[in-house]
Amino acid sequence: MRVTRGALPTLGRFVRALGLRERAIVVSDAHVAALHGTAALRALRSAGLSATLVTVPAGERSKSAAMLAALWRAFAEAKVERGHAVVALGGGVVGDLAGFAAATHLRGLPQVMAPTSLVAQVDSSIGGKVGIDLPWGKNLAGAFYPPRGVLVDPLLLATLPDRELRSGLAEVVKTGMVAHAPLFRLVESAAGRLLSRDARALEAAVGLAGRTKARIVSKDERDHGPRSALNFGHTLGHAIETALGFRRLSHGEAVAIGMRAAGRLSRRAAGLSAADARRLEDVLDRLGLPGRMPPLPLATLLDAMARDKKRRAGTLRWVLTPQIGFASVPRPVESRLVRAVLLEVGARE
Ligand code: NAD
Repeated sequence: MRVTRGALPTLGRFVRALGLRERAIVVSDAHVAALHGTAALRALRSAGLSATLVTVPAGERSKSAAMLAALWRAFAEAKVERGHAVVALGGGVVGDLAGFAAATHLRGLPQVMAPTSLVAQVDSSIGGKVGIDLPWGKNLAGAFYPPRGVLVDPLLLATLPDRELRSGLAEVVKTGMVAHAPLFRLVESAAGRLLSRDARALEAAVGLAGRTKARIVSKDERDHGPRSALNFGHTLGHAIETALGFRRLSHGEAVAIGMRAAGRLSRRAAGLSAADARRLEDVLDRLGLPGRMPPLPLATLLDAMARDKKRRAGTLRWVLTPQIGFASVPRPVESRLVRAVLLEVGARE
């Protein structure tokens, strides 16, 4: 993984250095392709690679079986061969979809990630999870398929809509909260500069968040152990997204509310100090992330959480944190506490 301001023009050399010297198929979404597609193609061609662009519509709906089949077809029509590289230029949707197409087309094409959203730069491009949504649930078909390389250019975040930037920052806070106190402190001290897209601040946060996630997943590639810490805030976050039909709140906003709930549970059930619990809420406030969810019924949320795919042996478990920078193994929490905290963050009886 390389994180450098102004890295996109070096994409061709980066791909060549991975031993991929013939041809690259760039997969992007329509928004990102319009903004950064030409620069990516130019970078690949100037390094002597033949390069083609395939685009999908922007948005979560493209992470579908139909779009996966459309990519297989586009690869076949473009006469893609084994050894040709698939370059995912885009946010998490493009990375997950193009990565799954690369994992499965001709039983596997080498894949390179060029993430363009903050979520993709600090989270989805790292760790090798690729996949699509199915009509009955999110991320339900997929694979572990690590990319050959990840090239991150924080300058690309200059064009990212504000709301997407905040969503990505929620994931950065999460990673700091469960795994690396210095990352958490960096966001606390640089919140304003991050929101105003100061390039140095973004490079520092993206680099440290990416390395922290990479360290966690390297110990647990298949998600059976320490990687579960990254689900902090996601138990409730996913339930909120499901209950809202994936509308109104972005993933990062739902996770921010989930983290507030998990922080409060950590205060009451895992020994998190009042000061650390306050710092979590303060940093989320300063990043402009929501404090409360729309008034969703408690029963709907509890039901959605009970169906979550991370549930093991029928018991719902929460990742809690006893101190900023550390996480406990997922554990059951008394339902009385869960209900109280859900009401505090906006659920209704
Ligand atoms: P996204 O890919 O839909 O991107 C969000 C929006 O930002 C899109 O409209 C996109 O066109 C636009 N965009 C991206 N980069 C841009 C740029 N530089 N300038 C302007 N616009 C830009 O969503 P996302 O938030 O990047 O990712 C969310 C997806 O990632 C979800 O599907 C989620 O499940 C997945 N995800 C996967 C993992 C993993 O480990 N594989 C981890 C976290 C999230």
